[in-house]
Amino acid sequence: MENAAEYTRRLVKHGARAHKSLGQNFLISDEVIEHIISASTLQPDVPLVEIGPGLGVLTRVLAPQVEKMWAVELDDHKISILNKELKGHPIELIHQDALKLDLKDLWGEKMGYLIGNLPYYITSPLIMHFLEQEKQLRGMTIMVQKEVADRIAASPGSKTYGILSIAVQISARVTKVMDVLPSAFWPAPKVTSAVIRLDLCSYPGFDMNRKDFFRVVKAAFSQRRKTLGNSLAGGLGIKKDDVIERMQSVGISASRRAESLSIEEFQVLSKAFL
Ligand code: SAM
Repeated sequence: MENAAEYTRRLVKHGARAHKSLGQNFLISDEVIEHIISASTLQPDVPLVEIGPGLGVLTRVLAPQVEKMWAVELDDHKISILNKELKGHPIELIHQDALKLDLKDLWGEKMGYLIGNLPYYITSPLIMHFLEQEKQLRGMTIMVQKEVADRIAASPGSKTYGILSIAVQISARVTKVMDVLPSAFWPAPKVTSAVIRLDLCSYPGFDMNRKDFFRVVKAAFSQRRKTLGNSLAGGLGIKKDDVIERMQSVGISASRRAESLSIEEFQVLSKAFL
């Protein structure tokens, strides 16, 4: 098999282009591809979907390892390249916006796995779109901007901890796999990337309606630099005295800042504002 860089070079020589507007930075590092695959739970009978296969550099290595896989790509030109290059593999190419993909349409009630070197312009919406399909998904290994990976994996007290950390961690266990330098891609992006693995699982002890929970989380982070007393009063449209009283009733000080609260504490706090 040609290595990733040779494969990409051949396709580029035959007219393949990278479209910036679609976030196209193609992997040319076999080492990174190996890490993505070894970090993932691939089993022949577990359905697999790849988001944004691009030229297929990862797809052609994944396909022989499973009985059936799907690859969802928005760019019609890449679909025609993939049709040619992946002939003979058990792959169904789907020419569609991944944000509109319903995994149930692919594999029904089974639980599958997702892999993707995600287009960076829609990383967070894509992650949230698939986390919402938790009944169809056991996990995902994804490449994202390092800065986004840091936010996803952040713990309370860190500067990068925020709504995205909480939204992901409430649905999945996060493992950082590796950082990836721009030189692993063609064309090289301006930023460093990172591979992370998300194992979907319900958060221990979390028993709230997510809408109620995130209404408070969003209000708490609406003015990050302010104390919770002020940011919640502003974000929820409640008098500050009332906020302080409700917070006192659940033992959380109104002078704390949103980034210091654990998910458990956010749950306690949210219940005070139901
Ligand atoms: N997997 C390839 C690789 O690693 O070389 C390509 C990764 S590239 C960063 C992202 C891919 O996602 C591109 O092929 C792009 O066309 C595709 N893409 C962008 N937006 C998409 C969307 N909304 N739905 C599906 N694919 C999309």
